Amino acid sequence: MPKQDKDPFNPLVAMARARHEFGEHGGVNMSIEASTTFTVLMAETMPEIFSGQRGPDSGGCYLYGRSFNPTVYNLGRQLAAMESTEAGYAASSGMGAIASTLMQLCDAGDHVVASNTVYGGTFALLREFFPLKSGVETTFVDISDLAAVEAAITPRTQVVFAEAISNPTLVVADISKLADIAHRHGARLVIDNTFSPMMITPTRFGADVVCHSLTKFASGASDIIAGAVCGSNDFVRSLMDLHTGALMLLGPTMDPKVAHEISLRLPHLGLRMSEHSRRAQVMAERLESWGVPVRYPGLASHPQHELLASMLNPQGEMGGEKTYGFGGIFAIDMGTMEGANRLMEILQNEHSFGFMAVSLGYFETLMSCSSSTTSSELDEEDKLAAGISPGLVRISIGLTGSLELRWNQLEDAVSRVRGGSSSRA
Ligand code: PLP
Repeated sequence: MPKQDKDPFNPLVAMARARHEFGEHGGVNMSIEASTTFTVLMAETMPEIFSGQRGPDSGGCYLYGRSFNPTVYNLGRQLAAMESTEAGYAASSGMGAIASTLMQLCDAGDHVVASNTVYGGTFALLREFFPLKSGVETTFVDISDLAAVEAAITPRTQVVFAEAISNPTLVVADISKLADIAHRHGARLVIDNTFSPMMITPTRFGADVVCHSLTKFASGASDIIAGAVCGSNDFVRSLMDLHTGALMLLGPTMDPKVAHEISLRLPHLGLRMSEHSRRAQVMAERLESWGVPVRYPGLASHPQHELLASMLNPQGEMGGEKTYGFGGIFAIDMGTMEGANRLMEILQNEHSFGFMAVSLGYFETLMSCSSSTTSSELDEEDKLAAGISPGLVRISIGLTGSLELRWNQLEDAVSRVRGGSSSRA
């Protein structure tokens, strides 16, 4: 896909235009098409559907629930609008979306260059599962070191893979430069945009495919496991090919009832992202000015602060200054795992500030010590290279309670673990 212009893009406007489907009986929400199989009036239509002459966009024909489903297809249109791609489709999990995308783009013996700081599940998929099961090898690099990215590319490299904002170290990918490198070598840039939906539109900077774990901010309620793939029409069609399509043949497509749920949450995703970001920004600034080691891309001290600022979508229709902010996640380094655990226990068990739990994007605050949980798939050397220290606490800031209530709770817990020095001292 060619690199697009960088005129202000507003995903809210694009999504509103794409959400045109009424429900049966004139319902204001789309209906759920729960059927797993679809009938036709004329017998000869059936082979035409199987041969691809007819499909969702050519005759409104559907084949079978594991292939395109009308409700999921509609959600795919909303997701494509959000990511400014020709097409999108939904998967049963973020891992289903990422694994299917990478399997579709790589054949046995191919190669991937990936960021060394990605979600632990993605790391294990690339580091252990793919070499074993499909002969696809990955070289992990510091994605902010563009020379290292280029040096890692081989004649078999099909994909450069990075998270737009990395889990858990919050490194921001320079999507434009990574796309240039990938394209110069005939590879595709795949971006996982799970941490920054609405905030960034990676295809505006040259990404070819965008994946999401919709389990996180898109769901917002920690009640649904879901994923998405957005890209060109040809790519999304290829995922559903009857002979070689990874979504069709491995089968991690989304259930239509789940698609319906997600479709009702995307319209307020932008509002939620803005509020997650507003709260995370205030807390990160206060922690930093107090001298607590905190990583947050909204801080001017973050190495890629300016880069992220340059990629943020405006919230206003006419462009302008206001954005969806720098995201709802920051990380505090408490020095040791004991310090990290003590902080989380005070915050959860004494203050009800949030929950000690993995995942993110929930309306309540979620806290986890990445080294021993969501990045435990990395060995100690890999964690060191990625900057995942034992005391690093990833905090996904929720939306409940007032900001000042939550700040007072956080301030009390941090000062007690640090030995009594309050930010007000
Ligand atoms: N990508 C990122 C950045 C994640 O944080 C996660 C899960 O934590 C995934 C992908 C996997 O998503 P799922 O759990 O929906 O399969």
